[in-house]
Amino acid sequence: MRTLSLMIAALAILAGCQAKEDKVIAITFDDGPNVTTTVKMLDMLEKHGVTASFFVNGMHINEESAKVMKRAYDMGCDIENHSYSHLAMSGLSEEELIKEIESTSALIEKYTGEAPQFFRPPYIDCNQKMMETIPLTFICGHGCEDWLPEVSAQERARRQIEAAVDGRIMLLHDMPGNDNTVEALDIIIPELKKQGYRFVTISELFKLKNEPLTPHSCIMYSVVPEQQ
Ligand SMILES: [Zn+2]
Repeated sequence: MRTLSLMIAALAILAGCQAKEDKVIAITFDDGPNVTTTVKMLDMLEKHGVTASFFVNGMHINEESAKVMKRAYDMGCDIENHSYSHLAMSGLSEEELIKEIESTSALIEKYTGEAPQFFRPPYIDCNQKMMETIPLTFICGHGCEDWLPEVSAQERARRQIEAAVDGRIMLLHDMPGNDNTVEALDIIIPELKKQGYRFVTISELFKLKNEPLTPHSCIMYSVVPEQQ
């Protein structure tokens, strides 16, 4: 009996250790899809055998870019909502907010077959009205100023690697011409793998951490679970 209890205790400790060592990070991209840089990001993700999440703008979805978005979805990536027009949205009316979100979600669902569950506000411009009106879970993430041409690939990688922590949401951009971020990924992914991290999509991250989706709340996640 005692041996059995000890064995169970040992197994529980082992399970605890394994859970602790399972460090995960969600790479996310904003401002796509497009037929240039989004393709390069996908090639880079494929090279390293990882998936990520793409927060897309409805205005960028057309017949051609939708094929790239579908490729991402078929690879196992998440396609999420980044609004239709990429406006600072805190000044919009409820009606305008709903239009921005619904038109984009409808396009994503049309081309992938799956509606998004997460939303990242453009410019992280956000207020109470948006959180009450938009029926999605709000995501922020850790950025590295990767929209500034003067921030090198090495510097982008350094900033993201330094900020790595279990449950981290990494905020990057796949806008056209952002090749420094493609190059940064080639540094970030192998280095964080070496440190024991695994890369998951944003929906996988919430499931793994047993974190419920929180539409209509005042939470905007940069790490899951949210840390104070
Ligand atoms: Zn954006």
